[in-house]
Amino acid sequence: MHYDVIVAGLGTMGAATCSYLAGRGLKVLGIEQFDIPHDLGSHSGFTRIIRKAYYEHPDYVPLLQRSYDLWRQQEQKTGQTLYHETGILYLGEPSSSVLRGSLESSRLYDIPVEKWEGGKVRARYPQFHFPAHWDVLWEPGAGYLDVNKSITGFCNTATEAGAEIHTREKIEAWKDQGDHILLKTSRSHYTASRLILTAGPWTRDLTAGLPLRVTRQVLAWLQLPDLERYDYPAFPCWFLHDPDQGMYYGFPVSRTGDPSEPRGIKMALHMPGDTGDPDRLDREIRKEDKAIFRYFLDRYMPRANPVSIHYKTCMYTYCPDEHFLVDYLPGTDRKVVVACGFSGHGFKFAPVIAEILTGLVLGETPNPSAAFLSLKRLDL
Ligand SMILES: Cc1cc2nc3c(=O)[nH]c(=O)nc-3n(C[C@H](O)[C@H](O)[C@H](O)COP(=O)(O)OP(=O)(O)OC[C@H]3O[C@@H](n4cnc5c(N)ncnc54)[C@H](O)[C@@H]3O)c2cc1C
Repeated sequence: MHYDVIVAGLGTMGAATCSYLAGRGLKVLGIEQFDIPHDLGSHSGFTRIIRKAYYEHPDYVPLLQRSYDLWRQQEQKTGQTLYHETGILYLGEPSSSVLRGSLESSRLYDIPVEKWEGGKVRARYPQFHFPAHWDVLWEPGAGYLDVNKSITGFCNTATEAGAEIHTREKIEAWKDQGDHILLKTSRSHYTASRLILTAGPWTRDLTAGLPLRVTRQVLAWLQLPDLERYDYPAFPCWFLHDPDQGMYYGFPVSRTGDPSEPRGIKMALHMPGDTGDPDRLDREIRKEDKAIFRYFLDRYMPRANPVSIHYKTCMYTYCPDEHFLVDYLPGTDRKVVVACGFSGHGFKFAPVIAEILTGLVLGETPNPSAAFLSLKRLDL
């Protein structure tokens, strides 16, 4: 069977991309090795933060502005709530790169961000304890996305527009045959005019030579006896930049309504964990993993007394400079496009990355520009 485009991997980016490709009238096949969604890749954990005052680099802001619009459009298409606006609190030393970078992006792009006095924060969110000299920022137009509804919703809008979706089928190899791509999977062979690789932590297996690093990350859900004090609006999304450990982040009580989501408030440390192989990731929880959360609670949320903590592992995929990679794969005459290296902050970009990938296979110039995410910068 021949397709205009095959999408390899239907997690975050692949599911959204199938939807945008099919929406443009292309004959699309999306292939996923597991179920949709699943909890073995980079999208496990039910919720993801979305915000605009981007400390990682101001160049991401135009992509985020487009992404916000596209999330709204997807909500209208599917009739589901995907975005929960809670606002986000940023806490840290005045010199924190997170606070400084967020302020810079907010100034450059006129994103509403308020500087709050410590007293105001303590009165409004007494759950946090932090040093008197710290700065606090508040970005009201931020919140979190519902991961599973987003991914299944994109697959549904893809199939409604005519895309074919295969699950539990692993892509084993692909070959450039000159005028088309030949794909071998655990079940069959397919041909396509274009191939898009959105394989997350497994991207290295399908692209020889890309310098990607996969890391093991641990999430925790704290089951608290007074959970109502951590429900929105009594509690928002938050980032707290500890000068020694790095940046912690968390959520209010989740409103996904997913019965399989652990009860409690979710939080994690946003620092690269041990480097690993996605098929051999150590998913056991270690003493050191638990210590990371204990450190946080003792210092910054001393009134939270969890009755139990549920842990889960997930994976980040990093490019050497820790920015995303979205480009044609060299030597394939623009037949193969790769989108990877989304590390710990890619989810919120899913629809805009999907729109860009669709543009790339159609030979269009992306707007907003994603040139800063191209391969050129990696000097391979
Ligand atoms: C703990 C944690 C917290 C995060 N928090 C945030 C946040 O708050 N906000 C935010 O914006 N981002 C966040 N992120 C980042 C975000 O979740 C990721 O950047 C994003 O999910 C990456 O999407 P992806 O499509 O590259 O990978 P995935 O979603 O993992 O999708 C890749 C898919 O490809 C499939 N696949 C791979 N190889 C094959 C093959 N050979 N054949 C068939 N299928 C294949 C995989 O099974 C998988 O389903 C977080 C990530 C983690 C791990």
